[in-house]
Amino acid sequence: MWWAVPALVGALLAGSATAASAACRTDGYRASVRTVDARTAADMTGVSWKEGCPVAIADLRRVELTYWGFDKRRHQGEIVVHKDVARSVVDVFHTMYQARFPINKMRRVDFYGGSDDASMADDNTSAFNCRPITGSTAGFSVHSYGKAIDINTVENPYVKGGTVLPPAGSAYLDRGDVRPGMIVHGDLVWKAFTAHGFTWGGDWTSPHDYQHFEFPV
Ligand SMILES: [Zn+2]
Repeated sequence: MWWAVPALVGALLAGSATAASAACRTDGYRASVRTVDARTAADMTGVSWKEGCPVAIADLRRVELTYWGFDKRRHQGEIVVHKDVARSVVDVFHTMYQARFPINKMRRVDFYGGSDDASMADDNTSAFNCRPITGSTAGFSVHSYGKAIDINTVENPYVKGGTVLPPAGSAYLDRGDVRPGMIVHGDLVWKAFTAHGFTWGGDWTSPHDYQHFEFPV
């Protein structure tokens, strides 16, 4: 299903495609929420999803949506999230789109072989990845439920003591020097996510995980 603007979801559900196309012309934001098809599920299995993961692939959704790149052009990205937060993700990224908040890349972590380090190093924005908590070998990260989202990982690194992930994020440790793509407490990205019940890793004491928003699991 394609969602142009949240207010029109009702009209879309009622089958009014005309209203949806009009909205597309208004601001250019397009978003779709789909179940994971068999081919994508096969791609994910053994990479971002494994036996024993805390969610079934059937409970995940592929969200494709429009974002503004650092190149000031529109792009269509893909992000895999839990079905319970898919609508919120469509709304939050619409807010970011309207504000022209720049995003570098938005790909499934399967493109990086499921490697969080590789995805972060590439400044990728992603959500679902069945993996341990960062810096740990035990316990599932909230990403394993598809309820955590990392945004612009280089501009918003994970910082714990002297550890900065990805290493290129070291250029963004001065959080008072706000540059494009950075998230700071109280800004439009923070407001959009927290309004939907997410908490921000940048508000934690340790680590400071500036790229990370999560929904309760
Ligand atoms: Zn994260």
